Amino acid sequence: MAFRALPPFAAAYLLFLAALAGACAGSFVNCAALRWPTGEKLPRGRSRCPACGHALGAADLIPVVSWVFLRGKCRYCKAPVSRRYPFAEVLCALLWVSAAARFGLSFETAEHCLLFSILLFLSLVDWDVMELPDGPILAGTAAFLVFLPAYEAPLLRLKEGIVGALALGGGLLLVVLVMDRLLGRESMGGGDIKLLAMLGLYTGPAAGLFLLLLACFIGLAFAFLGRKKGAFPFGPALALAAWPAALWGREIAAWYLGLFL
Ligand SMILES: [Zn+2]
Repeated sequence: MAFRALPPFAAAYLLFLAALAGACAGSFVNCAALRWPTGEKLPRGRSRCPACGHALGAADLIPVVSWVFLRGKCRYCKAPVSRRYPFAEVLCALLWVSAAARFGLSFETAEHCLLFSILLFLSLVDWDVMELPDGPILAGTAAFLVFLPAYEAPLLRLKEGIVGALALGGGLLLVVLVMDRLLGRESMGGGDIKLLAMLGLYTGPAAGLFLLLLACFIGLAFAFLGRKKGAFPFGPALALAAWPAALWGREIAAWYLGLFL
């Protein structure tokens, strides 16, 4: 059901649930991303304080609330807890709320909540260790196929998606091959190409082009701000640009194609 068609109370309740579930998802995604470089695929067993190893109780694990209430410190050893925890939780909550506000009570909302959570995981891992694991990119591809029958015109969406994936993934591959030749070194990881191809499925070719241009601007801004010296991860820029492209891709593409046609 479209968001505007929902009665006001139901709409507010949907956003509340999206924020709550999104914050929990953000907490899980952040833990999984922190543990990924250690070889642990999914968080397992009880959560522990990384500083003192004390097992954490339910009251220590409420997204955002625990961090604020404990003033960013471990309850047991008072070691500071990174701002990254509430950051990931708030960001994921906002992403889920944006999907719910755009797509209402629908499979599309679920699909985009999943996609945004995968993108958050990939961004955090890429930011930490400059790597984009294949597993979550494959999961994003699988989610596109699983949710396809929920759309009004699944075959059209599939066709546009395949064209988008080939155009974006293939286009970036060409650029990278030329750049590698010119620079005499590897200019961009294969993970970026795979991620862009996966995003192309969701956006199709027109909005995908917008995504790629926006990602280049964001990537340049990251490099310019110098948050990371030398090589910088392109994954977070792609993920950030994917947010408007996935939610409003068709509208954006119609607008800028209208400028030329
Ligand atoms: Zn501790």
